[in-house]
Amino acid sequence: MVQLRELPQTSQNSLSLTALIDSALCVGAGGSTGSLADKPIVRLADGRLLIPGSQLKGRLRHECEKLARALGWPVCESPVAETMCPQIGRDNPAFQRAEYDIGKQFADETTQHHCLVCQVFGNPALPSRIVVDDLICQEAPENLPEVLRPGVTINRRRGTAEDQKLYFLETSPVNVQLPFEGRIYLEPNCPDYAKALILAALQHIHALGGSKSAGLGWLTWKIGDTEIDQSAWELLKVGDAS
Ligand SMILES: [Zn+2]
Repeated sequence: MVQLRELPQTSQNSLSLTALIDSALCVGAGGSTGSLADKPIVRLADGRLLIPGSQLKGRLRHECEKLARALGWPVCESPVAETMCPQIGRDNPAFQRAEYDIGKQFADETTQHHCLVCQVFGNPALPSRIVVDDLICQEAPENLPEVLRPGVTINRRRGTAEDQKLYFLETSPVNVQLPFEGRIYLEPNCPDYAKALILAALQHIHALGGSKSAGLGWLTWKIGDTEIDQSAWELLKVGDAS
């Protein structure tokens, strides 16, 4: 049995990411439908475009859940606390496996179990161990194609710090690939398989945006050089081995 907490831990770790957004297909017209969370591109007050880290993190979690399940690991149902770890593991024996024991207990001193995805992305009882940066467009706003420059539909979120972000909803006929760069930071206590799982999940994200109408269309990822310990892949493979 492989114990997650006995795998080698890398202290300072990050993944550098570039999303190449095909603006010919993307930058969907949002209009009045869809929630703000569906808006895949945001414009900062200084005019730069960005993809919110929260948006990317949500998609990554979803893809990691699918991958882990496909590999035979029981994965909880986010985002409702009752169906998430560690709550779900109280009654569901599938979650009571050694890899999910990270040394935490409930107030009544029974062992908590946290699935592979929760150990990376967190849950109501466990802080997230990754930080996903906003991906910022490296093209200066003044160099963006004409059609991307003027705001057509601008919404402001009410009374929050988000007020500085202007939503960007134009349709665009232009044919350029816009690079959006950022990083995913893995905290020192992040499990060693996290990077492998995240890299695999990225390969399944071909578009961002919550709905077709507000979606971004196609994107491709460029991922900076990174090393993954073979033991991480080996561990992920053995989900149904217990
Ligand atoms: Zn979980």
